[in-house]
Amino acid sequence: MIAYTGPMARRTKPSKASGRGAAPPALRRVDEDFSERRFEPKTGQTEVFGVVALSLGGIALGVGAYALVFRDEALPQLGYPPYVLAVGVVLLAYYLLFGRQRLYTWRIGQLGVGLEVDDRVMRTGWYEVERISSAADQLRLDTGGKPLTISLLAHPAAARRLVSEALQRIPKQVALDDEDLQRIGTPAASEGERVVAEPLQVTQLTCMASSRPLSVEEDVRMCRRCGALYHRSGLPRRCVGCGKKLKKK
Ligand SMILES: [Zn+2]
Repeated sequence: MIAYTGPMARRTKPSKASGRGAAPPALRRVDEDFSERRFEPKTGQTEVFGVVALSLGGIALGVGAYALVFRDEALPQLGYPPYVLAVGVVLLAYYLLFGRQRLYTWRIGQLGVGLEVDDRVMRTGWYEVERISSAADQLRLDTGGKPLTISLLAHPAAARRLVSEALQRIPKQVALDDEDLQRIGTPAASEGERVVAEPLQVTQLTCMASSRPLSVEEDVRMCRRCGALYHRSGLPRRCVGCGKKLKKK
């Protein structure tokens, strides 16, 4: 019997035209497709416990409150509602602190770091990341606004992908030592689901070099390395976000 070696088994070889030496252009247009990887939370004991804590907490609060309100008539035999209430509060607090934050789904790719919130993806471009550090099983991304944190326990694969891309795109912002890098590890090609990002909305943005509004998609150019956006008539020689050379002269 001959083993099947279909298209899946073929390796893609770089074509001669785009082979060694011919780097991809530094800029890309924003109406192209942007691929990225999607990382759902790793379901483990902690997350299951979070959901159980939420459920039990809710039940305990309900029973406690019911017994308090209807103590005299309905449930005169229940002498412990304050304790039940307290247990409910503790379980709910646990869920809010630890259970919920790990259920997010992350996107990592050319457009930066995305967080799926309801049916939207909140994105932080690589050029917006000021510092990447790690503390207490978390990866922390400082940005101009609220910092992003990724749990290394719930999202080990997303953290690996993020760090590996950041080292290529914005190495100066990566404040991780060898020990951190070893702990986080290197990404495997199979990790994360490959998806095409939702079309980029540029209408609210301005050119990072000239501050001109980027209202016409045609006029927008993006730094291939860090995702910084420019008006095509106001391109700087080097990228404001990552220092990549954007113009030949
Ligand atoms: Zn750049």
